[in-house]
Amino acid sequence: MTEPNRYARHIVLPEVGAAGQARLAASSVLIVGLGGLGCPAAQYLASSGVGRLVLNDFDAVDVTNLPRQVLFTDADVGRTKVTAAAARLSQLNPELAIETIDQRCDSARLVSVMKHVDAVLDGTDSLATRFVVNDACVAAQVPLVSGAAIRLEGQVVTFLNRSGGGPCYRCIYSDDDEWLGDCQGSGVLAPVTGVIGALMAMEAIQVLLGKAESRANVLSLWDAKTGVWNRVAVKPRTNCPNCG
Ligand SMILES: [Zn+2]
Repeated sequence: MTEPNRYARHIVLPEVGAAGQARLAASSVLIVGLGGLGCPAAQYLASSGVGRLVLNDFDAVDVTNLPRQVLFTDADVGRTKVTAAAARLSQLNPELAIETIDQRCDSARLVSVMKHVDAVLDGTDSLATRFVVNDACVAAQVPLVSGAAIRLEGQVVTFLNRSGGGPCYRCIYSDDDEWLGDCQGSGVLAPVTGVIGALMAMEAIQVLLGKAESRANVLSLWDAKTGVWNRVAVKPRTNCPNCG
C-alpha cells in the first residue's frame, strides 16, 4: 500500500497536480510581519506544502494579538513572534524549512533576503514599512502580495515586479497619503484579518504556480459590513518614484 500523500487533495486538482505541488515544495516565501495577516497566511503556506518560509518580525506576542494572530496561544505571550511562529509551523508541517529574522530590516537586508525567495508577503501595519518592502521587491524583481485590514475593511493586491515599468505599491499610495489607520487606534474585527491573510496565501500560491498573470495589478477591496468586494485596476502612476 502506498503512503497516503499529505497533499492528496491538492494533487487531484487539475489546477495544481503533482507538478504544481512539486513546484510549491521547491518554493520560498518571505513573510514580513507576523500579525493578523501574516499568521494565517504563514499557516496556509506551511500547510499547503511551500518548501521554505522566511519569517520577519521584530515584535513579541502580546495578549491583545491573540484574537487575530492564530499561530499564537496564551502560553506564547512575551515570546518573540518569529520564535513562537516557527515552533507552531514546524508542528503543523515538519517538512517545512523555516528561517527567522527577529529585527526590523533595512532595504539592503531585504533585497539580499529577496534574492533567495520567489514571493514576498507584506502584512505590516505602517505605510513607511510598506514602502521599504515595496521598493526592495521592485529592486529585487520579486513578486509582492500586499494585504491590509482595518476596522471591518480589507484589501489585497499582487504585483509581479518582473520588469521595470510597474505598477507597484507606490502607484496606489504616496508619501502624502494618510494610511488607512492603525489597528491599535482604529480597531479591527478578528475574522477580517483571517479572510485577508488567507487570500494573501492564495495569491502567493498562484504566483508560485505561475498563474498570477491575470490577477496581478488589481486591488481587491472588501467591505465586511456589506459583504461587497470591489476590484480596481492599478496603473503605473506618472509621479511614482519607481514607475514614473
Ligand atoms: Zn509604482
